Amino acid sequence: MSGFASSVLSCLDRERLEEELDEVRVRGRNLSRLRRLTAFERAALEERERTARARLRNHEMEHGCER
Ligand SMILES: [Zn+2]
Repeated sequence: MSGFASSVLSCLDRERLEEELDEVRVRGRNLSRLRRLTAFERAALEERERTARARLRNHEMEHGCER
């Protein structure tokens, strides 16, 4: 069962980065639902999402914990 255990146990850093990416996405979605975003706001949100995704990908490559 060791293979099973190692596939279930995930990297905590990776989980944290995934949560950050989720948060950025949810926040952007909620904001755009509340009101019309300016082009500047939309660009800032997209940039934050891009950054969060890049950090997650970099971690996976450096740590080798990609699922
Ligand atoms: Zn990791």
